[in-house]
Order: sequence, then C-alpha cells, then structure tokens
Amino acid sequence: MIVITSPDEMTRYAESARQSGERIGLVPTMGFLHDGHLTLMREGRRQSSVLVASIFVNPMQFGPGEDFARYPRNFERDCAMLERVPVDVVFAPEPAAMYSTDAQSWVDAGDITSGLCGAHRPGHFRGVTTVVAKLFNIVKPHLAVFGEKDFQQLRAIQKMVRDLNFDVEILPVPIVREKDGLAMSSRNAYLSSTEREDALALSLALRAAREKHRTDPCCAEEVVFAATRVLKRMKGVEIEYVEGVDAETLSRHPSLDRPILIAIAARVGKTRLIDNVVLNP
Ligand code: AMP
Repeated sequence: MIVITSPDEMTRYAESARQSGERIGLVPTMGFLHDGHLTLMREGRRQSSVLVASIFVNPMQFGPGEDFARYPRNFERDCAMLERVPVDVVFAPEPAAMYSTDAQSWVDAGDITSGLCGAHRPGHFRGVTTVVAKLFNIVKPHLAVFGEKDFQQLRAIQKMVRDLNFDVEILPVPIVREKDGLAMSSRNAYLSSTEREDALALSLALRAAREKHRTDPCCAEEVVFAATRVLKRMKGVEIEYVEGVDAETLSRHPSLDRPILIAIAARVGKTRLIDNVVLNP
C-alpha cells in the first residue's frame, strides 16, 4: 500500500493505471475508520483492480461552530486497517494542497440538498459535492463507493454525476450497524457511556417506523410519528428533525406506493447523529 499526499502525484498514478487497463475504485472518507468504512472498502475491492481510499477531513463541508478542528483523526491506525483490506493507495492530502487560497468555484447539486440535513447545515452539501468532484478529477475512478448512512449525500452525489456527466459509477452500500443497532460513525467516539445508551433511541425509532409501515401503513405522517414518539421518550436526545420523504427525489409528502426514506438527525449531548431507513411499499 502506498500513501500519496500530492494531488498531482495522485493524478499521475491514476493516469498510468488507466493506461495499463486497470479499473480504479475510490472510497472517499474523512478517516477515523470503522467497520462501516471497511465494508465500503471491501465492496470497492471486489469491483476494482486498483483501490484508492481517500482520507481528507474537508474543511469546506463544516460550518462555523461545527466540529472540524476536533473531528477525530488517527492516520496510523487508519492505514493499518486499510492495509488489511487490502487497499492499494491511500490518498491523504492536506487542505492547502486541495484548496488554493483564491479558489472560488463550487459544485451545487440543487434542490436535493435543500431539505433534511441541508436545511440545518447551510453550505454543507456544497462543500461535499465540490470535494467529491475534485476527488473524481484527481483520482479518475471508474467506480466510487458511498454509504447509505449519509443518504442525502449519496443522492446529491448521484445527482451531480448525472447533471454534470461524470463518467463514474456510484456504488451505494447499506448502513453498517453495531450489534445493538447503533449506526457506526466516527462521531460515536464523542459519546460518553450514558450518551452511547441514549443514542440507541435513533435506531429504535427507525425500528418503530418500520413496524408501523409494515403493519398499518395509512400515511407517511403516521410512520414519522411512530419514530418521533420513541425519540421523545429518551431524555438525553434532542431531535433536530424526523422526516419521511420520497427515497429517490427526497421531496416531501411522499406516496406510500413508492419507497420512502425515514431520516433522523438528533443531538445526544453535544454530538450530532444521523440515521435512516428506506421503507419499500
Ligand atoms: P465519513 O468518513 O463519515 O465521511 O464516511 C465516509 C463514507 O463511509 C461515506 O460514504 C459514508 O456514508 C460511509 N459510512 C460511514 N458510516 C457508515 C456506516 N455505518 N455504514 C455504511 N457506510 C458508512
């Protein structure tokens, strides 16, 4: 496994791999890896001959007052985990190598980013789509792997790829959970032991939504209400939003004849957690 920090060097490597007929897979991450990330890596490994993992805590997707500075980082440990997959290249640029001081161009995926997390984190998705577009230009992947954990991010990237004709296949991977149901996340490292218990409310709420949808699917509002009720019972959990939207378009007032996404964002102590489930008719 080699580590590349320079975008130019990464591009030279990618161009030469493409010329040799390799199929390049990319898994973008912000590091502090867990089993969820490794599941994406293994999926990328199966479908590509050269697998690149990027580790980049992207300042452009964090708002003022968010956790950019204290976001957990452990490059050595990440590399040891990636080596075992095995990953061929770790691309780990510094922010200054990714953004020149006079950079002013952005990629914006439009309406799909306006609701859910987009409504609560202004500028977040613009930062995400911009860095992913840059990574696609630098790493030149045939295929890129994204988790359904960040469902709106996945949809925004799929929209960007269609709208801007990126020649990259997007491979979605289902949410990987801890044994008790908590969705794996680098931010789980922030949780104290009581917060870790409170955090279970998110997956329990989604389970209640799934059950309501299965047994008595009268309308999306009722399904959302079943989830909200579970979250409200947990004192340590402060709801940011619980919403039911069309799983393709993310538009409100979904029809139960189509897959719906139930998405939650909530604070447990100071930690902001997200989780979701897609319910099929
Ligand atoms: P992050 O490092 O949080 O930016 O995540 C990098 C990629 O891993 C994104 O595509 C995430 O959606 C994905 N990911 C993070 N956690 C999980 C999880 N628990 N299950 C599946 N994918 C995940």
